[in-house]
Amino acid sequence: MRSQYSNSSGQPNYPPIIGFLRQHLPIVVFLVVAFAGMVAVYWYFSPEDAEADAATVTAVLTNEEGALTAPIHKVVPAQPVVQRLAQSPGPIRVALISGHQGFDSGAVCPDGLTEVQVNAGIVDQVIAKLQGMGIRVDELDEFDPRLDNYVGTAVISVHADSCDYINDLATGFKIAGSGLTNSTPLSICIEDAYRNATQMNYHANTITPDMADYHAFRQLAPGTQAVIIEVGFMNLDREMITTNSAVPAQGITDGITCFLNQYKQTKATN
Ligand SMILES: [Zn+2]
Repeated sequence: MRSQYSNSSGQPNYPPIIGFLRQHLPIVVFLVVAFAGMVAVYWYFSPEDAEADAATVTAVLTNEEGALTAPIHKVVPAQPVVQRLAQSPGPIRVALISGHQGFDSGAVCPDGLTEVQVNAGIVDQVIAKLQGMGIRVDELDEFDPRLDNYVGTAVISVHADSCDYINDLATGFKIAGSGLTNSTPLSICIEDAYRNATQMNYHANTITPDMADYHAFRQLAPGTQAVIIEVGFMNLDREMITTNSAVPAQGITDGITCFLNQYKQTKATN
């Protein structure tokens, strides 16, 4: 039996398909090279991440109107653009803490006058004035539960100094601002306006740790500026903060409106 590889006549005895290919060798070579070329091109341009490529293709298709996608009709009501600018300023909201209210009497004079009365007398007038200007005001007790995480534009706590006679220098007012939220703008406004209204001296050298580390400063929400003001001494400044309490009340009110005007301007330009 003759094997196909037996070669007796010099003419190889290939199967018909091999003979056919041999007769058309240039075409066979061309097809092989072309196929290899296509594989090379396909490999070269294939993305590494097929899924990403699919997404890109989808994106491209959907970016072109009507390209390979059936139109989808969905009725969407027109919506007004509510906010195009960055965060608009929140509504103005001020709180006054009526010192010692709801807790104790504070300083007490020999004749029975208490600090809590003095503070409330001034705070009530400030609140009435602010509300008369359409400003939203909260009146808070000394340890008001609303102080926890209170969010406001400004918080002012009103206290008065001792009724004891200390010396002739124990007169004047003082202010301490929160160290947790920079309250310098509020402090400056209140200090200037209070001095202008009352003509009292700023009594800086008796600011106590109680003022600087005032409990409310630690309770308020971050970003809420806060100050505590000692409106005067109940001994030497008694007349100003009782009989004439409309004057200190005006000073505090002016300080708050000064601050609110600045606040609105900085918010408007930001
Ligand atoms: Zn006090």
